[in-house]
Amino acid sequence: MDKRQVFEAIGREADRFAAHAKALWDSPELSFMEKESSAAQKKLCRELGFRVGELDGIQAYAFVAEYGKGSPVIGILGEFDALPGLSQKIATMRDPAVPGGPGHGCGHNLLGTASLGAAYGIMKAIEAGALAGTIRYFGCPAEEQLGKPVLAKAGVFDGLDAVLCWHPADLNTVAAYGTNASVQLEFRFRGKPAHAAQVPHMGRSALDAVTLTNVGIEFLREHMPSGARIHYIVNSGGERANIVPEFASGTYQIRSPKMREVVPLIGRVLDVARGAAIMTGTSFEYSFLHGCYDVCPNGVISDLLHDNLGQAPFPAYTDEDRAFAKALCDTTTEDQRRETLLMLGVDAASASSLAKISLHEGVGYWGRQWVIPASTDVGDVSHIAPTAQINTATWPMGVGSHTWQATAASGSGMGMKAMLYAAQVMAGAAWDLIADPSALAAAKKEFAESMGGEVYTSADELIERLMDREKGA
Ligand SMILES: [Zn+2]
Repeated sequence: MDKRQVFEAIGREADRFAAHAKALWDSPELSFMEKESSAAQKKLCRELGFRVGELDGIQAYAFVAEYGKGSPVIGILGEFDALPGLSQKIATMRDPAVPGGPGHGCGHNLLGTASLGAAYGIMKAIEAGALAGTIRYFGCPAEEQLGKPVLAKAGVFDGLDAVLCWHPADLNTVAAYGTNASVQLEFRFRGKPAHAAQVPHMGRSALDAVTLTNVGIEFLREHMPSGARIHYIVNSGGERANIVPEFASGTYQIRSPKMREVVPLIGRVLDVARGAAIMTGTSFEYSFLHGCYDVCPNGVISDLLHDNLGQAPFPAYTDEDRAFAKALCDTTTEDQRRETLLMLGVDAASASSLAKISLHEGVGYWGRQWVIPASTDVGDVSHIAPTAQINTATWPMGVGSHTWQATAASGSGMGMKAMLYAAQVMAGAAWDLIADPSALAAAKKEFAESMGGEVYTSADELIERLMDREKGA
């Protein structure tokens, strides 16, 4: 068996994988609620011949499917959660299947299926004796709510020699960009209630503390690292305008291209909140909600993925797929499409020409030396083992993720074809890593150099250490 036969083995199951992805798409489940999706994935894994280990004790609906034995151990990451409010039929106009219901607007029905498909291809090669080693497919719930750090902290990704992942998108490219590390905290202020007109001098407003925290953050912005981001919302700001608010709270999200920049920035935001509490005579406390690391893409594996984007059979789109893509693409403007592409690290010249087409039928290698401002929980895994990702064009140019257009495309023929391509490309790179020990060694050497001796510590543990340091100070 050679690599081309691995592509063919995956291709022979195209209808089965498409039916599975469509079943997930038909019954979208939100983060932490993926009971049926996870069960369907595990069932398919068992039918295909994987050993399935349930990880519900660590995180509900998480699992690992494995085949083979010994080293090297290659991991492939999968997700299957949906998003609220993005229900949509396979149509080119906004038309929810269930008004207000969830939908696969991030294409995770395709994500989990292609990753499982890639693992299947390698399983067939190990079974045939063409490769020796272990392939592990990780069913990772709740990506949209940062589920992987929970698994990472429990050691689920330990012992991997390399990791592959992908994400549905509007381009066929190595996802060579890094992402922002991110931490979310809840801030709570407590004051003293009083009649707001009669005895305001007796009250201490918790809402004032939230307001002053937010004003302080606006002034802090000028003096943060340039790639950093802070967002906030007010969760609670009192009950009635004529009562001085006794309690107020907000959610604060702090991002930066490296986790090591996020933690000191959190220290400064906490100082702002403490200052606001002093100014308003209120008390302040906070708690960690969730966080994830920046993605550190491995260049060696990225190059292998790029080779395989060229080697795997390219999706055979029909005229119907192209017409569907064009109609969905026409719901965006050329300017929107160019802007979406530029934010993915596509160079200006390519972005301008790509913005004029509706379906990407080429292959790129965009995003090197680029950090996208958003975050993904794949970041944590990329700090545990050498990790790289691709995108394939599962949806039309420029529609972007988390849109109804992405939901529509993720249930359609074009989505299924690009999903199969993603499975084959990842399987091809996994083949290269297992078949060529020098490639894997190079990937591991680069990983060791880029981590610089860092030992993975989950974001919640980093914040705990920050708290301890502050208590000690
Ligand atoms: Zn996603």
